[in-house]
Amino acid sequence: MNSVIKISNMSYKYPTGKVDVLKNINIEIEKGLLYAVVGPNGGGKTTFCNVLRGFIPHFYRGDLRGEVLVNGKNIVESTLGELSLSVGFVFQNPFIQISGVKETVFEEVAYGLENLGVHPDEIRTRVEAILKLVKIEHLRDKNPFELSGGQRQRVALASIIVMEPDILVIDEPTSQLDPQGTEEVFEIIQIMKEKGKTIILVEHKIELIAEFADRVILLHDGEIVMEGTTQDVLSDEKALSYDVMLPQYAMLGLELKKRGVPLRKIPITEEQAVE
Ligand code: ADP
Repeated sequence: MNSVIKISNMSYKYPTGKVDVLKNINIEIEKGLLYAVVGPNGGGKTTFCNVLRGFIPHFYRGDLRGEVLVNGKNIVESTLGELSLSVGFVFQNPFIQISGVKETVFEEVAYGLENLGVHPDEIRTRVEAILKLVKIEHLRDKNPFELSGGQRQRVALASIIVMEPDILVIDEPTSQLDPQGTEEVFEIIQIMKEKGKTIILVEHKIELIAEFADRVILLHDGEIVMEGTTQDVLSDEKALSYDVMLPQYAMLGLELKKRGVPLRKIPITEEQAVE
């Protein structure tokens, strides 16, 4: 397996916490796949993301045990700056992501490259290309704060993608968006996947996970209790016992199977259901 992240026997306790909120995590993240991280609130999803981007242990200290390798390098030995070159992080709330110091979408997307001291000509070329890629060229002269939620999240994604990280960690990007905004964000996620990026996505909308994710990681009470292909995890009744919903077609398939209807596999998407 060509893994970009390898986590061995990792546990973590916040500085103020009494118990481990991540417990004995072992997983390899394979290059180019989209992993959905699911599980009930408080299960450890955001903490897991904070480890992947090095916020733990570089920002939140606490007690991190075990080993986390990103592109072969131990995160404890990397700086946050080094890590940010390979792991791009997108927050739930695009307001946090947007710098607030730039007056146009173009300048906002260019900001990270400016900070790295990239030549202005190269900045222009790269920003133009990304605005086109995520289909926000028409917004280039707008103020980021005048945009809709979906547009703002696209700008936030663009400002990360322009830095060309090979891993994207995206924590609930659609939780504050309407259906159209959600669709716009998933369009970009799909484009990133096609470009070979490795994506770790926290998302509650199970039908979207069924459609887009390659693998699912189920975190419950700080432990990985299920991990596998999206097909396997989202057609397994066991997920329900961890308070994770299954796609409606999987629920229907499981019910039919219980009633003796022979099914080759339990469908998880509409496309599979009509096959
Ligand atoms: P999820 O994203 O699945 O909702 P979190 O990673 O946010 O889960 O939280 C996991 C556990 O860690 C929870 O019990 C939460 O209260 C605790 N926790 C989260 N952030 C902090 C923090 N900064 N300090 C102490 N405990 C925290």
